[in-house]
Amino acid sequence: MAELRADDAELATRWDVLVVGGGNAALCAAIAARREGASVLVVEAASKFYRGGNTRHTRNMRCAHDSATEILTGPYTEDEFWEDLLRVTGGETDEQLARYMIRESKDMLPWIVEQGVRFQPSLGGTLSLGRTNSFFLGGGRSMLNALYRTAERLGVAVLYEAPAVDLDVADGQFRSATIEHKGIRRTIAAKALVAAAGGFEANIEWLKQYWGEVAENFLIRGTPNNRGTVLKLLLDKGVAPIGDPTQCHAVAIDARAPKFDGGIITRLDCVVFGIVVNKEAQRFYDEGEDLWPKRYAIWGRLVAAQPDQIAYIIFDTPSLRMFMPSLYPPIEAPSIAALAAKLELDAAALEATVAGFNAAVRPGDFDHTILDDCRTEGLTPPKTHWARRIETAPFYAYPVRPGITFTYLGTRVNREARMMMKSGAPASNMFAAGEIMSGNVLGRGYAAGIGMTIGSVFGRIAGREAALNARH
Ligand SMILES: Cc1cc2nc3c(=O)[nH]c(=O)nc-3n(C[C@H](O)[C@H](O)[C@H](O)COP(=O)(O)OP(=O)(O)OC[C@H]3O[C@@H](n4cnc5c(N)ncnc54)[C@H](O)[C@@H]3O)c2cc1C
Repeated sequence: MAELRADDAELATRWDVLVVGGGNAALCAAIAARREGASVLVVEAASKFYRGGNTRHTRNMRCAHDSATEILTGPYTEDEFWEDLLRVTGGETDEQLARYMIRESKDMLPWIVEQGVRFQPSLGGTLSLGRTNSFFLGGGRSMLNALYRTAERLGVAVLYEAPAVDLDVADGQFRSATIEHKGIRRTIAAKALVAAAGGFEANIEWLKQYWGEVAENFLIRGTPNNRGTVLKLLLDKGVAPIGDPTQCHAVAIDARAPKFDGGIITRLDCVVFGIVVNKEAQRFYDEGEDLWPKRYAIWGRLVAAQPDQIAYIIFDTPSLRMFMPSLYPPIEAPSIAALAAKLELDAAALEATVAGFNAAVRPGDFDHTILDDCRTEGLTPPKTHWARRIETAPFYAYPVRPGITFTYLGTRVNREARMMMKSGAPASNMFAAGEIMSGNVLGRGYAAGIGMTIGSVFGRIAGREAALNARH
């Protein structure tokens, strides 16, 4: 059995490759390293039940492919993927590395299937991802279970509830990691390190350094374990940072969601069907600017910029069944004034905002799957598509807060997924994959499914390179 206890003598041996983390990036690295013949230990902060960090919550992965498949409705070329990445990041990406990742992503779908993962056709609704993104059959958790099964079958050892709390690194060379397991500290030596321990999104104190007190009102969509401990240790020990620490993936999620781990079911995909107001009952952004998959990831930051970091999506009955339902039911009322009362908003102000919006709506042919001609005129900010009057009772609202998915500040890497030191030299035996190095590809912005691409592609490369490194 590949699962270890911290008192196992095996722990004291010097491993070829130590993988820190237990999500997609870590498991891809562990499997790739093991397939190269390395002895591999994975140390995961979470318990076995909660293993796999944010990967547990995922649904799909974006990979380039030249033709339709059983699952994907058409080709998605390397160039198109690159154009999409360029657009969402506004050019803030390492072009060489990003293009390399995209090229390698072509190989990922068959490789992931070889590791036991299964795909299913795209979900519908406002996602529009059927051509570009492969959905995991059974979701991220089932994907992870398949990876763990394969890793264990190959002989990868896994230690749960074993967060890395310190690293012994000198002159770009990793020697050992200190882990804490059930209150006891252990030193684990290895010839090479793969850091795949996520970003620092669950570390509110660290977020506050850049966002100030407003970070107290952020909800963390994924694991409480991604506190950036390993990232910070590496940066403190001379690894070059990459990325703006305020940049992250953040969406609007139901304000009633738990502080951590609410997952995908607390996300709200109905912004395009209504209007969004702040606690002063004022609109603040064009809700119909572009198709939802291209805009959903800006709403976390938009809400973060509002007073008390709260906002309300307001819509009426015709829209109620047009989007994917979320965990919590919407707040319902027979009139706008009654809705305002339930939301504790100023009723006159909300009525005035809705009336002003309704008066500005121009007639058009509503179609939420295209950039339709339903828009407002003479309104600031405008709603440029899918603008329909909010006039049919009952009326509905969802309160929303910024839901932070993952941060982009990371360790700089080269195309071997090898960390780069502040001196400009490559680290001798340290590699990184996944969120912890996502800033190399994502300077800002996001396109759905890229998180898993970054983890899988660089995870596989990091594992392979770490194994080769250990061998030599
Ligand atoms: C709700 C939600 C939905 C998402 N949906 C998608 C999607 O459909 N498609 C997509 O591409 N992306 C999606 N993402 C983003 C995606 O989850 C991440 O990009 C991806 O999972 C990152 O993989 P990773 O292995 O780097 O990190 P994780 O999967 O988060 O793994 C990090 C691991 O490190 C462990 N860890 C942390 N600190 C330590 C430590 N000190 N010692 C040891 N272990 C440690 C954690 O326990 C965890 O197991 C979603 C994220 C969320 C939160």
